[in-house]
Amino acid sequence: MSQNHIAKEIDITPVDVPPHPEWPVLSKSEKQLIKERIKRMLKEQNAVLVAHYYTDPNLQELAEESGGCVSDSLEMARFGSEQDAQTLVVCGVRFMGETAKILNPEKRILMPDLNATCSLDEGCPADQFSAFCDAHPDHTVVVYANTSAEVKARSDWVVTSGIALPIIQHLASKGEKVLWGPDQHLGRYVQKITGVEMLLWPGSCVVHEEFKSVALERMHRLHPDAAVLVHPESPESVIEQADVVGSTTALINAVATMDNKEFIVATDGGIFHKMKQLAPDKHLIEAPTAGEGATCVSCAHCPWMGMNSLHNLAQVLESGNQQIHIQPKLCQQAVKPIQRMLDFAKEHAVATQSKGNA
Ligand code: SF4
Repeated sequence: MSQNHIAKEIDITPVDVPPHPEWPVLSKSEKQLIKERIKRMLKEQNAVLVAHYYTDPNLQELAEESGGCVSDSLEMARFGSEQDAQTLVVCGVRFMGETAKILNPEKRILMPDLNATCSLDEGCPADQFSAFCDAHPDHTVVVYANTSAEVKARSDWVVTSGIALPIIQHLASKGEKVLWGPDQHLGRYVQKITGVEMLLWPGSCVVHEEFKSVALERMHRLHPDAAVLVHPESPESVIEQADVVGSTTALINAVATMDNKEFIVATDGGIFHKMKQLAPDKHLIEAPTAGEGATCVSCAHCPWMGMNSLHNLAQVLESGNQQIHIQPKLCQQAVKPIQRMLDFAKEHAVATQSKGNA
């Protein structure tokens, strides 16, 4: 692999992030027009926009400009349930829209594209996961937020990457055995930090799984003063090199608060938008996503997050299509483990997990 190949540096302005292949290129006036149209429809329909950090920066800007929020999945869930608006428009992937519906069954939940899924969700079919749980009835079932409504309904607790550590520590302190799904990498990281043995479902994120440890070591040698920021969905060998391991919010905070001028970032490239907004003088470098012998370089962008754009957002507000529907009984079952997490977060004032000085 060439040095150029490894050192894929990105020096960006707040509105110029690494392009996603799915994001349409809009002229300034086209962008302005469509944003104004969407803002008008949001107002007319008493709707609020909630966007994930990994989505198109145009959507992130619009969410903030229109009084919505840009956040990680835990904060999206919190924010959505606090709104009086009758409609929540969730820009992200399907499990986020489902979580919004589970927490707000009386609200209309729209998404730009209901086919935007997640490899963790796809890799954890409810019937197979349920059989795994049935085989271990003495275990408390803890699932990551990136799961279907059915899988959530089968669980005792839902967690996000920001709250997984304190919840597992809490369960261990009560002597409970834990069955964890679906992200094996995050599960291993939590096991390592807490020392709690857990039964792991073998799922993974297609984006974070691609970060490569050998190439990262080389990149770090080229940038010895850079802090390495890693999302815990990444492989263990990548996490081991991190100065900070944490949720999207923790990684953004690290860029804003640490003294380092350079950061190597191992998570979806969409996060660079918020990082550059908060710390425009910092130099951000995408962690390498191809190792020795790899035949292609993945782009460090989630293909499903990339299915959200200004165009399909406008279409969905016009048509009212792409609405999340969940059976009321399923909602009632799935809300319990989510509410348990939100109550825990409130009670323990939990923010994010991190390693290092962020
Ligand atoms: S980045 Fe990974 S975990 Fe996040 S939505 Fe995409 S596939 Fe799922």
